[in-house]
Amino acid sequence: MSEQRQPGMVIVGGGLAGATAAATLREEGYTGPVTIVADESETPYQRPPLSKGFLAGKEGEDALLPYPASWYPENNVEVITGEAATAIDPDAHTVALAGGRILGYDKLLLATGATPRRIPFPGVDLDGVHTFRTRADSIRLKELLKDGGHRLVMIGSGWIGMEIAATARELGNEVTLLGLEEVPLSVAIGAELGAVFAKRHEEAGVRFVLPSSAAAITGDDGKVTGVTSTTGVVLPADLVIVAVGVVPNIALAEDAGLAVENGILVDASLRTSKEDILAAGDVANAMHPITGARARSEHWANAIAGGKVAARTMLGQDAVLDDIPYFYTDQFDLGMEYSGYAALTKGADIVIRGSLESREFIAFWVAGGRVVAGMNVNVWDVQEDIKALIGSARTVDTRALANPAIALGDI
Ligand SMILES: Cc1cc2nc3c(=O)[nH]c(=O)nc-3n(C[C@H](O)[C@H](O)[C@H](O)COP(=O)(O)OP(=O)(O)OC[C@H]3O[C@@H](n4cnc5c(N)ncnc54)[C@H](O)[C@@H]3O)c2cc1C
Repeated sequence: MSEQRQPGMVIVGGGLAGATAAATLREEGYTGPVTIVADESETPYQRPPLSKGFLAGKEGEDALLPYPASWYPENNVEVITGEAATAIDPDAHTVALAGGRILGYDKLLLATGATPRRIPFPGVDLDGVHTFRTRADSIRLKELLKDGGHRLVMIGSGWIGMEIAATARELGNEVTLLGLEEVPLSVAIGAELGAVFAKRHEEAGVRFVLPSSAAAITGDDGKVTGVTSTTGVVLPADLVIVAVGVVPNIALAEDAGLAVENGILVDASLRTSKEDILAAGDVANAMHPITGARARSEHWANAIAGGKVAARTMLGQDAVLDDIPYFYTDQFDLGMEYSGYAALTKGADIVIRGSLESREFIAFWVAGGRVVAGMNVNVWDVQEDIKALIGSARTVDTRALANPAIALGDI
């Protein structure tokens, strides 16, 4: 079956990057056909609430929608849900869908996101062992956790693992985390700052078995009963979540001959190695014009910024993705925002403004005398100032940086 249609803009992937790109195309005045091909069954949604307020039952469906479901028909954007794109023919400018349709395109955006990494731990297929990425995963887990009393073992102590752990604990479940780092989150923010999050978890009764991984997930009659850590600790469990990172969904691009390496390789305007095909969001490994290095960001703000830049590039505008990377997390009563160039923080000095003990502070990473990243915890409305400091690339007085009496704008 093939379909005769006027080519237009086709977006593969109904996540935040894809939805933002569609909205930007319309905002920029594009009036031709826009089609989103989404293999999930829902209207495009965003994921951050899935491990936080939505999982906790504090936020509803509205929190998931970057644009209301009515926005798409109102703006003449066709959303094909529940159907995957299965092949691209870059020469013919067509995309094949699982159901057999062939869509022509003028420009094609690949916003296919990422999938939880699967490690073949013995017992990983037992009933009660989950990964976590989708709205359906969150609804399933919410149902299991909401009344408390479960024993949850989380394999992985990164951002997602820590967020789900906090929510599960707040709902009255017993929670234990295994993780490869001595201190959770230390690869991302260093041991001193990772310890702030770990301590808050421990105070709430979360247990850590660190550093360790799972030697085996054990079960009885097909159902999970526990996890044995690589350090020999036996942890009874009726729920196990494997949260050990994600891998970018590159198969479609790779099969079509696009250059891939830790994601789909794109330039700063998000163009892939094939003409008229772009990539954005978690799947894109983009050249950053400021750092001159490639980075594949797995964060919400990058999906939005990338969706916008991709749409503008599709329209022939001169757009580059040069935003300072940003992300946030919420765990218990810790609210955090981070912006900066993670690649430049290695070996940087950490300057603290405020107090780690009171958990109200800004941490700055200072390399070569300039601020390359900043993270505010339970301190608000400072992101613009932090980004201005990073963006200015000026040499800073670190004593002034550490002194809350001096306004950030005056440093
Ligand atoms: C639980 C959770 C919590 C998070 N919390 C935060 C947070 O607090 N802060 C933060 O900054 N970031 C957070 N993130 C990360 C953020 O959600 C991602 O960076 C963002 O979702 C990336 O958007 P995307 O559109 O690139 O990809 P995705 O959201 O993964 O969307 C891609 C879509 O494309 C679909 N797809 C893939 N292949 C095909 C195909 N062949 N055909 C059709 N469709 C296809 C996928 O199924 C998916 O629906 C969180 C992520 C998760 C999972």
